[in-house]
Amino acid sequence: MRRRRYDVVVIGAGTAGLVAATRLAQAGAGVCVVARGFGSTHLAAGTIDVLGYAPERVERPLDGLSRLIAAQPEHPYSRIGSGAVSAALEWFATTVASGVLPGYTYVGGIERNLLLPTALGVLKPSALVPASFAAGDAHALRRVAVAGITALRDFHAGLCAENLRAAGLDAHPVTLALELDRADTGTLGLARRLDDAQWRAGFCARLAPLVGGFDQVGLPAILGLREPHAVWRDCEQRLGCAVFEIPALPPSVPGMRLFELLAGALRAAGGTVAIGAGVVGHRRDGGRAGGRVLSVQADTAGSPTSYEADAFVLASGGVHSGAIALDSHWQAHELVLGLPLAGLPGPGEPRFAPGYFDEQPFARVGVAVDERLRALGASNVVVAGASLPGAVPWREGSGEGIALASGYHAAAVLAAELGAGVAA
Ligand SMILES: Cc1cc2nc3c(=O)[nH]c(=O)nc-3n(C[C@H](O)[C@H](O)[C@H](O)COP(=O)(O)OP(=O)(O)OC[C@H]3O[C@@H](n4cnc5c(N)ncnc54)[C@H](O)[C@@H]3O)c2cc1C
Repeated sequence: MRRRRYDVVVIGAGTAGLVAATRLAQAGAGVCVVARGFGSTHLAAGTIDVLGYAPERVERPLDGLSRLIAAQPEHPYSRIGSGAVSAALEWFATTVASGVLPGYTYVGGIERNLLLPTALGVLKPSALVPASFAAGDAHALRRVAVAGITALRDFHAGLCAENLRAAGLDAHPVTLALELDRADTGTLGLARRLDDAQWRAGFCARLAPLVGGFDQVGLPAILGLREPHAVWRDCEQRLGCAVFEIPALPPSVPGMRLFELLAGALRAAGGTVAIGAGVVGHRRDGGRAGGRVLSVQADTAGSPTSYEADAFVLASGGVHSGAIALDSHWQAHELVLGLPLAGLPGPGEPRFAPGYFDEQPFARVGVAVDERLRALGASNVVVAGASLPGAVPWREGSGEGIALASGYHAAAVLAAELGAGVAA
């Protein structure tokens, strides 16, 4: 078995793991991220939703956070504190702005949610969003065209525009007749084509006559992977109006940009990412129930690798990524490090609610932690992201905000111990 040694090993390459790893590397720690695969970045919208519903729609996330923290002491935001949430958002915006995608920035903040159309034409509250999304903010939309492309069968401009009209907006569908070979019909294929200036010029020339006279044009989020800022600006210039991206079905192009930005920042700070390294075992110095984790063993190409470290961040995504699962006796287990769980439904209480959109009792299950996000079952493991207990991110619209803020906070906790220099 190969052996590697780091100051900190981070398990999981979603937003939480990449943020924790980057912050630690920036503070001077030797860091490696090991992950079975990509995280939710490649599926979700690429926005940082801090708090969208509590339970009514939240206009001002900072005010909503204060109320949530007062009412729910077990919630991850209560452990992190609203000050660290603000600091994490600021750090993220700055990191992106100086990142590997020139000109690409995030706009917004914790003061006020933007209200952005989804592919279904539902308005979704988000705190921090790619600048190429911002012209879609419903607070400022005027006469807007929603542009579909015949080749992209998963995005229905008619449905999106109809639902936006039902919400009181002046939205109209237009469809660009464009058929491509099968390999290119997804969001990713179109994004790669739009990175090509010549192909983009032809695309815009065919779209421009359809969107003349509109104030804004909403396109599915396909505006480039390599140079998305330049692609977006070029489209605005060629179409002669404000252009905004609407998150489409996975794979998520803006989410892939988010991954590249965070992984790029981590590498720039000296850290490494190993994708395709699922953790299948670990060693401890205090038996299964406590003590310290000494190493994790991952299935890597060629032969397994043992990753040793002084400390670990568990950012494995919790229930929705399969890192916490029920066995055939309906007992829940944390599968990566065998850590104790919190937020479980009590004996005899239902595990699931009948309605799909009901609050599911299992949604709040996560790894049991103390006030500093330290796992109760292992003294050198800090937990971040969707592995934390106490939240209902799908209902709250808080998944990415929790991932970012807890990754940021977990790094501060460990850096202080390792004697590295980031602020808590
Ligand atoms: C389709 C979809 C849409 C979403 N939409 C939104 C939205 O609009 N707004 C919002 O706020 N949130 C949304 N979310 C939720 C949000 O994306 C997540 O809550 C958040 O990204 C969780 O980040 P994370 O880093 O904690 O975990 P994840 O991103 O799930 O990452 C988990 C990581 O752990 C790794 N891993 C798991 N097990 C192991 C193992 N044994 N060994 C090694 N690695 C392992 C995985 O491979 C992955 O890299 C959405 C999620 C999905 C799936």
